[in-house]
Amino acid sequence: MTQYPSLHMIIDGEKVSGGGRRTFDVVNPATGEPIGALPLAEAADLDRALEVAAKGFQVWRKSTPQQRAAVLQGAARLMVERQEELARIATMEEGKPLAESRIEVMMNVGLFNFYAGECFRIYGRELVRPEGQRSTVRYEPVGPVAAFAPWNFPLGNPGRKLGAPIAAGCSVILKAAEETPASALGVLQCLLDAGLPKEVAQAVFGVPDEVSRHLLGSPVIRKLSFTGSTVVGKHLAKLAADDMKRTTMELGGHGPVLVFGDSDLDRALETAVFGKYRNAGQVCVSPTRFIVEENVYERFRDGFVERAKTVKVGDGLVDGTQMGPMANPRRPEAIDRFIADATDRGATLHTGGKRIGNRGFFYEPSVLSEIPLDAAVMNEEPFGPLALINPFPGEDAMIAEANRLPYGLAAYAWTGNAHRQRRLAAELEAGMVGINSHMIGGADAPFGGVKWSGHGSEDGPEGVLACMVLKAVHEG
Ligand code: NAD
Repeated sequence: MTQYPSLHMIIDGEKVSGGGRRTFDVVNPATGEPIGALPLAEAADLDRALEVAAKGFQVWRKSTPQQRAAVLQGAARLMVERQEELARIATMEEGKPLAESRIEVMMNVGLFNFYAGECFRIYGRELVRPEGQRSTVRYEPVGPVAAFAPWNFPLGNPGRKLGAPIAAGCSVILKAAEETPASALGVLQCLLDAGLPKEVAQAVFGVPDEVSRHLLGSPVIRKLSFTGSTVVGKHLAKLAADDMKRTTMELGGHGPVLVFGDSDLDRALETAVFGKYRNAGQVCVSPTRFIVEENVYERFRDGFVERAKTVKVGDGLVDGTQMGPMANPRRPEAIDRFIADATDRGATLHTGGKRIGNRGFFYEPSVLSEIPLDAAVMNEEPFGPLALINPFPGEDAMIAEANRLPYGLAAYAWTGNAHRQRRLAAELEAGMVGINSHMIGGADAPFGGVKWSGHGSEDGPEGVLACMVLKAVHEG
């Protein structure tokens, strides 16, 4: 049985806690009970972390690709060894089924190994010049990075936030969500145990607004990397703009799923229901608005409802659980509000719509249909186990609905028509498009959005390049 570990920050390689610092109660969402007290940074802690990050950058910018790759590969090996412990901690903090937490560990393993290879592929260019002259274009690490990771992928988000700067030769101060700190610390510890110099990566926690203002207010930090809501993302981008810091913003989404009459409906349903209730819908690329062609609308809706009713909800640590609790008490409250608003406006609730029990933050897998477009949930990210299913007359109307919102993270489509597949690939306004598939990620693929879903990419070669700046050198 994994014990929930004691909590600390990691500043200059030192485990920092106590000393009269304020604390935050970490809660197990399956029970609602506190499981740990997390120390929160004071201004002096953040100043120390900044000073160390400045030194760490001077060390790591000069590291060789071999050194960086060895650390990333070593950390990947340690994550494999520690998979079960890391997964259990993530489930205790966030609630997701253990199988999903184990996958998260392996996503980090894949990403760190991919980035280890990328360290050797940071190529520049030599320009064609007359004899005696030389012009080169080279990539250099951007500098110390301030990275903010949310709670919904307690291991995967910190893995992305740490992996890219380390591969690029930057230092990084990570502020992961206070709700899921031990998972983030577990990932960082693998890197430190694999030989990462202690100045290069640190973890702080605190009052989010205090920490982000302090770190982004410092000229030491040269890049902001944020994953979270669009509202907070816009606020942080403004803070970063004051010092012209680079940004990678992974923000909210409202994933449209276009289902056409010519699709393999059973496959679409199996994939969509699994995708919708994964991590209790608390996924930025979650399939959310089901935009269904009229001729298959009733079959799709009824098939979805039937399957939603069979999803096994329970403690993520218990075998056979398919959906855990929501991660914190804010989420069931938000879903209650969205459903009340939609049904008041005439939407039909087919299943779900209630919390389960009075312990923890469990919520029923829910399905709404025929939801007016002015309902709040048709415009704001629900971030919960709530599917929205509406009929549309045909391709043009379906594409228009998919592109109606200012979000553009993931979009999905189900159709057997090859011509239509190409049109959708071109016309859906999204950073990632899945056609007859919801597998839109991979260590080698850029992950990111357009419009209000943010800018910049994580993963893929693009994830490393996002932590680098270009320099053109001209020699006469
Ligand atoms: P929130 O918007 O307050 O927080 C989202 C994340 O941003 C959290 O991790 C939080 O710690 C962090 N944060 C908040 N204020 C910050 C600040 N001033 N500086 C730095 N970090 C800050 O709300 P929440 O209740 O935690 O989540 C609600 C919404 O956030 C969801 O509805 C969803 O839209 C979005 N969200 C998105 C993702 C994602 O993967 N894109 C992940 C988690 C939450």
